[in-house]
Amino acid sequence: MIYMDNAATTRPYEEALSTFEKVNRTYYFNTASIHQEGRNADKLLEASRKQILNLLDLEGFECVFTSGATESNNIAIQSVLKKKKQFGRTVLMSELEHPSVLNTVEAMKAEGFDVKYIRTTADGQVNLESLKELLDGDVVFVTVMAVNNITGAIQPVAEIADLLKDYPKVHFHVDATQAAGKIKMNFSGVDTLSLSAHKFHGLKGAGALLAKQVKSLDPVYYGGGHEFNIRSGTVNLGAIAAMAKALRISVQDMEKNHERISGYSEHLRKAVTGLPSIHLQPGGVPHIVNISFEGAQGEVIVNALGARDIMVSTTSACASKLASLNETLMAMNNKAAVVKGSIRISYSNFTTDEEADMLIEALKGVHKEIGGVLK
Ligand code: PMP
Repeated sequence: MIYMDNAATTRPYEEALSTFEKVNRTYYFNTASIHQEGRNADKLLEASRKQILNLLDLEGFECVFTSGATESNNIAIQSVLKKKKQFGRTVLMSELEHPSVLNTVEAMKAEGFDVKYIRTTADGQVNLESLKELLDGDVVFVTVMAVNNITGAIQPVAEIADLLKDYPKVHFHVDATQAAGKIKMNFSGVDTLSLSAHKFHGLKGAGALLAKQVKSLDPVYYGGGHEFNIRSGTVNLGAIAAMAKALRISVQDMEKNHERISGYSEHLRKAVTGLPSIHLQPGGVPHIVNISFEGAQGEVIVNALGARDIMVSTTSACASKLASLNETLMAMNNKAAVVKGSIRISYSNFTTDEEADMLIEALKGVHKEIGGVLK
């Protein structure tokens, strides 16, 4: 089997799996217990926190462990907006956001917030001019992802943070789920960041909310006060230690993997350029390549590759079961037929040269096979 759906989730590193197992065997204690073993477990928790902050160069931030980016996004948005209500009611959000941001922000309309969308460039980036037009004294929250999960487009996070300096009451949230462990970005002007361990070869069920002023955040649900009183509940120490380990390996090997994966995506782009009815979306990180077969259904391409034992997805795993057209690709002004025929290929640190070559051959084969339906 050739796995090319790594933007949905990655295979855990062996080191992450063995850390998880070891911690659950020897440090299975509750980090909130005050006995010696509890304190030992808590030391490991604190060491994991420090390591993650160091690896991401997040000086001045705190690391709140969560179950993943969905929970981190929910906590950041709901908690901050609860506090900001008295200062303004407008939330600015890019059109590119993952459903865990989009649907949470949309739900805040019921709390009296007004949501405005920042337009997208044809390259799949947030349009800075559109952001400038929307910024006014009523804006209290801006949310833009770091790397788009459909096209891989890298968003101008540092430029946005710079613009927001003139708007001190605005909280800037960044969903960095597809960036962490893949590229180095400057997050110094950001207030909160989300990530999920399973996107960088850690385990599912662990993630983090990285926050500059964690003490000013109120809980959105209640419990024993774990994790700065923001995310109560006994912590998943094994998965957290495994996340720190996975991030360390990903960051250490980042340059080397980036170069190798860039080779795969460039090779793929060259190989399909010029084939009739094929459209390549502009990219960003080399890990994600979005290709459309105009006139075909994305599902048909996914299934044809599946028959060759290659796993890719249509748009994103979270939206691929929904019938609606992908919002990111629509926001980039693609024709509906291009959006319908799109598939997402996503490489990981485990992808081999041979697999990358086999994918290209398979794509050419599928293109020939379904030539009759293409426009
Ligand atoms: N944000 C982005 C950009 C993502 O790609 C994902 C995962 N599809 C998430 C948030 C949610 O992550 P999780 O499912 O681990 O909570």
